[in-house]
Amino acid sequence: MAQLQIRDLTKRFGPVTAVRELSLEVGSGELVALVGPSGCGKTTTLRLIAGFEQPDRGDVRLDGQSLLSLPPEERGVGIVFQNYALFPHMSVFNNIAYGLTMRGFRRAHGVKARVRELLELMDLVGLERRKPSELSAGQQQRVALARALAPNPQVLLLDEPLSALDVQLRVRLRLEIKRLQRQLNITTLYVTHDQEEALAIADRVAVMNEGRLEQIGPPWAVYHRPASLFVARFIGRGNVLEGRVLAVEGDRVRVALDDRQSVVLSKGSHCRFRAKPGDRVHFLVRPEKLTLPPRPPENRLQGRVRGVEFLGDSALLHIECAGQLWLLRRFSPPEDELQREGQEIAFGFSPEEAFLLTGAD
Ligand code: ATP
Repeated sequence: MAQLQIRDLTKRFGPVTAVRELSLEVGSGELVALVGPSGCGKTTTLRLIAGFEQPDRGDVRLDGQSLLSLPPEERGVGIVFQNYALFPHMSVFNNIAYGLTMRGFRRAHGVKARVRELLELMDLVGLERRKPSELSAGQQQRVALARALAPNPQVLLLDEPLSALDVQLRVRLRLEIKRLQRQLNITTLYVTHDQEEALAIADRVAVMNEGRLEQIGPPWAVYHRPASLFVARFIGRGNVLEGRVLAVEGDRVRVALDDRQSVVLSKGSHCRFRAKPGDRVHFLVRPEKLTLPPRPPENRLQGRVRGVEFLGDSALLHIECAGQLWLLRRFSPPEDELQREGQEIAFGFSPEEAFLLTGAD
């Protein structure tokens, strides 16, 4: 399988720079999820790789060979769009076969055998004569995937392939896509705006913002070690809080939240940021790291519950403390936990569970 390299890619549409000096690599057989808010340039990046757009600068390479001079059908890239783009008047069989005939798979028996292989792989046997309108959304999605995989592409590009589906189906299909991707060992770039989906299936997550790459790393790292304020706020639900440094003592930083309350943060080995007294800093504490009652005693805070979000397996308490909103997650909450709105509560977190962030708003 092939390695995909994007080097210094820039694409402008008139005054809009959709992609800005973007460099990233997808290793052989790797699944990289490309996430970011609407309009940050995800789809444009895929279109540049697939050859539907030409970059203003930069290069797209497969195993070191530039793809830029090749038309889309010769790039060895399969693509699945958000709306599947199936041909409504064609059967499932012909939709899948289309990808092959387009690529010069001329021998009819070769086409038939390959389509049959894909029908089996995608669990679509028996549906080959149906039209897309006679399929469920999940089946349509599988047909789109089969069509993209039919010519044996070296790279698979998926553009929000599950966004039209309901939550349960999304969760099931994302696992199916992951299993299939592993089984075929196909180099894959998966665009989604759903960061949970990205964390769940990716080998690495690439976070884009305004056409640029903010961070690329394993899911654990982008969640627990965000490289910027933007990533900390975009990935997962977190508490990105603000304060002023009071003192730095060895590995510990004391940060004032307001006139009355302060917390101690451990700088830890992961922190590249040298904070000095007087600096305004941001730090991240994940909701599941806040405890109620506070444990250990170092960071003991007092706040008022402003709302409770019940999520089934957990509840998120929205707590106002030192003029900021803190989210605290309680797993398997008893029923009375959901009645805390308006209550004054004590909560806390361990200094090791907070992550000092660089950058300012
Ligand atoms: P979404 O998650 O909403 O699909 P995205 O991250 O995929 O967004 P793109 O579709 O790549 O974002 O768009 C990036 C920027 O480029 C946007 O500001 C968009 O309006 C602009 N853009 C994209 N295609 C064109 C085009 N053909 N002409 C002009 N502007 C475009």
